[in-house]
Amino acid sequence: MWSRAGRSRRLGGHACSHGGQNGPSILDSLGLAAVRAERRDGETVALIVQKYGGSSVADTAAIKRVARRIVDTRNAGHQVVVVVSAMGDTTDDLLESAAEITDHAPEREMDILLTAGERISMALLAMAVTELGAPAHSYTGAQAGIRTDSNFGRAQIVGMVPERVARAVHDGLVAIVAGFQGVSKDEDVTTLGRGGSDTTAVALAAALHADVCEIYTDVDGLFSADPRIVPKAHRLRTISQEETLELAAHGAKILHLRAVEYARRHNVPLHVRSSFSEKEGTWIANGPANPQLAGLVPEAALAQNQEEQMEQPIISGIAHDRSQDKITVAGIPNSPGKAARIFEVVAEVGANIDMIVQNIPVANPERANITFTLPEGDARRALDALEAHRDELRYQELRYNPDIGKLSLVGAGMRTNPGVSARLFGALSQAGINIDLISTSEIRISVVTKLEDLDRAVQAVHTAFGLDSTESEAVVYGGSGR
Ligand code: ASP
Ligand code: MG
Repeated sequence: MWSRAGRSRRLGGHACSHGGQNGPSILDSLGLAAVRAERRDGETVALIVQKYGGSSVADTAAIKRVARRIVDTRNAGHQVVVVVSAMGDTTDDLLESAAEITDHAPEREMDILLTAGERISMALLAMAVTELGAPAHSYTGAQAGIRTDSNFGRAQIVGMVPERVARAVHDGLVAIVAGFQGVSKDEDVTTLGRGGSDTTAVALAAALHADVCEIYTDVDGLFSADPRIVPKAHRLRTISQEETLELAAHGAKILHLRAVEYARRHNVPLHVRSSFSEKEGTWIANGPANPQLAGLVPEAALAQNQEEQMEQPIISGIAHDRSQDKITVAGIPNSPGKAARIFEVVAEVGANIDMIVQNIPVANPERANITFTLPEGDARRALDALEAHRDELRYQELRYNPDIGKLSLVGAGMRTNPGVSARLFGALSQAGINIDLISTSEIRISVVTKLEDLDRAVQAVHTAFGLDSTESEAVVYGGSGR
């Protein structure tokens, strides 16, 4: 699974070159390369970014527990930068308060309001860490140099200048950064979209050339399927970034999709694990871990070559998605330009299309049917727009089905192993499950089934690909998956 390029770069470089990616880091450009302080025994320490989700800091007892873990990591000799989410359901509570006041909250005020949640948790966590004898400073997104565009509620990071964070680490402080927020060039406070703290953590890890970005949540890592559906799902020890991207893009909830994209673009190794247990989680990277992380990462993550890599299954995991709906535009005149117009109409209302299937009935070749799936939140707008253009598009019927489910089988081994589709379809047919739509990428096969069949489909396919674990491994501690 490890790429050759990743391997040679890591083995060839000086210890200081371990970490996310190539090129000079912000630390070097600030003349703060000494952030990689030498330990007394002369070994360079690892720089670790730890991100704690809302369920990990739900109350003050939880904050103290997290502080203990941070201080333990630091006392083991590592440098630690922390990114924290708002406590428990704080963000939802703030949204509710705003909704009690207005249906038309100005976006700018919404963002200032929502960033308050992370300010509370970051300050309390800094106090708890300091209380344990490790001095800590907390920083807002703006103070941490997270520069974004001005799209309130869904801002994109356009630059990272974490100078104060780098200096804090250099000075031996634990830096604690508020997740999910940044500052625009007009100096307005912005948010990165729900679940955006993962992205904050990955962006900081990239800018600081951290050796790993640890994402702490309330499950033990990435599983071969959702343990709530498949109790015999097993924890993945290692997985590549591209497979993780496919799983996250097709319904696996554990990581924010944008964070995975950012990690892939900047080659930041991720380690997803639980803050409620000491178990190692899942190493997500295209190469082995810095050996200085021994003991902190799954053993398989340290293997330097593929021969040592025990875990190389053809299939890594199964994602599922209940949140899509299906629209069929039936009886469209079978002439050039019709499909283009349909999707223009749908795109104009901002609907995001996933699968598309066209079929032309043999008995009636002058008319085509086009079926597509889209997020349920976009369905109404798409249907209204298609209805409004009925005369122009000259279709015969518009059909809508909200009760569909999508199963996605993901594995890099599909590239080189034939017979994966046959086994998938075989498993579904044996379980008596009808396949509605099919789509594929190089390393993924997705099928749409009836919503009511989805859980059984996931279970059957999990077993058919030999993914079932002999013991029950999955523990969900908090339940939110955050
Ligand atoms: N607190 C924000 C949210 O609930 C960001 C995050 O937790 O990542 O969406
Ligand atoms: Mg639906």
